[in-house]
Amino acid sequence: MKKYIPAAMLFVVFEAVAVSLAVFKDNAFYLFNFSYIGCSISLGVVLYIRSYKNARRVVQLLVGLYMLVYLGIICNENMQIEGFWYYLFTGVFEAATIHYLVAKIAGPLVFGRGWCGYACWTAMALDFLPYKTPQSHERRGSGWLRYLAFAASILFVAALFLTHAADMERIMFRAFIFGNLIYYALGIGLAVWLRDNRAFCKYICPVTVFLKPASYFSLFRVTCDKGKCVNCGQCVRVCPMDVDMTDNSRARKNGTECILCMECVKKCPTGALK
Ligand code: SF4
Ligand code: SF4
Ligand code: SF4
Repeated sequence: MKKYIPAAMLFVVFEAVAVSLAVFKDNAFYLFNFSYIGCSISLGVVLYIRSYKNARRVVQLLVGLYMLVYLGIICNENMQIEGFWYYLFTGVFEAATIHYLVAKIAGPLVFGRGWCGYACWTAMALDFLPYKTPQSHERRGSGWLRYLAFAASILFVAALFLTHAADMERIMFRAFIFGNLIYYALGIGLAVWLRDNRAFCKYICPVTVFLKPASYFSLFRVTCDKGKCVNCGQCVRVCPMDVDMTDNSRARKNGTECILCMECVKKCPTGALK
């Protein structure tokens, strides 16, 4: 039973967040929301421990569809980056602001880019494409596009406030729908063009501007036991994010891009990675 302790710990952490927010905000929704996400993630960890090869995909679908369809489309909560700016500028600590704080700003100090590996609804769709291992591990010099997209998201919401746009809730809902359609179109187009499912994550996604700094200090990270490593290179070849996980330093190549997918750990023939 000891091997299931990480799953139990994750469940307890999410329950603590669920109960704290439900009490602090006097809103039972948070109890449901974070309990559901905690259960989904813990289930994924249990499936991974039991060597179920699609464990990560199960979590992606459970959490990604919940956030996209239930929270986004049914409940009209814009959980995209412009939704975060909107709630932040309104001074409301709800929905997207809580989501960003937990999953994308503070959370990465503990679980790095786990959001990207297990919960993002954009990557949930992109990971169905056939280019799971990038054709090339060399990055093109287009990472600055992320910062452009980040700035555009702030400017878009700032313009709505400055022009006193009418019915902003409706605009934000439409922005959520069209924003997602654009993300999917760009994501699929880039993946096919560059033969890389995660090209959108590497070159366009504005959320990485939040995710990367805290991920540098992530508590959970893949490490390499140099005594067991035979330098076969299989781990680096299979990595969807071009990380050099055989280097244990924080400054390793593309270290802040690791999505904790564990493909390298599964591939290592000597068990050097954990
Ligand atoms: S980089 Fe962006 S699109 Fe890719 S998984 Fe992370 S949040 Fe989603
Ligand atoms: S293959 Fe390993 S290093 Fe690469 S993203 Fe997945 S867990 Fe991180
Ligand atoms: S797959 Fe394992 S043995 Fe091969 S280079 Fe990577 S860590 Fe070393």
